[in-house]
Amino acid sequence: SSAGNIRVVVRVRGINAREAERGANCLVEIDPHTQTTHLYPPTEGDKSHIRKIFDKKSFTFDNSFWSGSPTDPHYATQEHIYDSLGEEFLDHNFAGYHTCIFAYGQTGSGKSYTMMGVEGNPGLIPRTCEDLFERIEVYRSPDVSYSVRVSYFEIYNEQVRDLLAPRTETPRYLKVRESPTEGPYVTDLIELPVKNYAEVKRFIELGDQSRTTASTKMNDTSSRSHAVFTLMLRQVHHDVNTDETTERVGRMRLVDLAGSERANATGATGARLREGGNINKSLTTLGRVIATLASSSTSTNISRSKKEVVPYRDSILTWLLKDSLGGNSKTAMIACISPTDYDETLSTLRYADQAKHIKTRATVNEDQVS
Ligand code: ADP
Ligand code: MG
Repeated sequence: SSAGNIRVVVRVRGINAREAERGANCLVEIDPHTQTTHLYPPTEGDKSHIRKIFDKKSFTFDNSFWSGSPTDPHYATQEHIYDSLGEEFLDHNFAGYHTCIFAYGQTGSGKSYTMMGVEGNPGLIPRTCEDLFERIEVYRSPDVSYSVRVSYFEIYNEQVRDLLAPRTETPRYLKVRESPTEGPYVTDLIELPVKNYAEVKRFIELGDQSRTTASTKMNDTSSRSHAVFTLMLRQVHHDVNTDETTERVGRMRLVDLAGSERANATGATGARLREGGNINKSLTTLGRVIATLASSSTSTNISRSKKEVVPYRDSILTWLLKDSLGGNSKTAMIACISPTDYDETLSTLRYADQAKHIKTRATVNEDQVS
């Protein structure tokens, strides 16, 4: 097995047209040599650079990606993000590890852009799928067979909806259960076998359509819902010399979380309390889970022996991601930030900073079949 900390990276997008129009300043700076993200408080009226420099907050991560303007040196493209994170995580899946990459950040900070991408500029999910099938072609051998399954669901208001199921008149919600061997799972979730990239792409589009159709009716669902895309890679290896057959299963979870402005009622990040209607239970619980895991990994042995209970079961998201957050998984968090919003960005950076302390213990999921 392999123990290690959650990989935490930051990605900052450029100033958009709306922000430029109201004359918003870029408050974020990234040092590509130290992978440090600096956040400067907004200056009102006087543009005194001195004060800004003294008040800056700095955080170092495994990577700090600058995606300000494509013409900038060190501009991190979609390909860049995939090459420095996605590719390695796919290696882990082929080695039989479970992985999870989740995008955190306020609405409009680039979570969906990073995970799914846009037409002509795909993000981590399509790139992972494409690479997965390319590798299966390359690794092809008479001793190994590969099978891939895909599922896609969303959590909205603590309810799970299958994005690959045909839409019904009244929404159908799925239950979450926990099995002693497999951990928490969604009952009756559709897991479709896929043979090539074109097939997955079609299912992704189907799922995304299902997500957006709902959003026009339900007042911006995508900022309030968590989308969980899962690939299951199964490899059956037959050794002709020993006549042994082993099965290896790697599950990759790629998660696009609800806008973090909905989580700011939690004490975990020290952020202010918001109106009740805006609070997303799964996100606030995620904050508590991260805080508990982070503190138990940094505390001394004496206090650790008290064994703080991690509140996984308090929300659907954290229950389903139990393994990904504190168990058998190699996990990465991508903290997406907007360059002009001081409070939300500071809150996201603190959240990410805390997540760096979390340790997971991944084991190769391999069984002898015969
Ligand atoms: P979120 O999912 O966090 O709400 P989006 O991914 O939808 O945010 O991003 C908001 C807008 O900004 C979208 O129009 C998206 O295409 C654009 N955008 C986000 N990140 C980038 C980036 N790194 N480069 C170019 N455009 C981006
Ligand atoms: Mg989004």
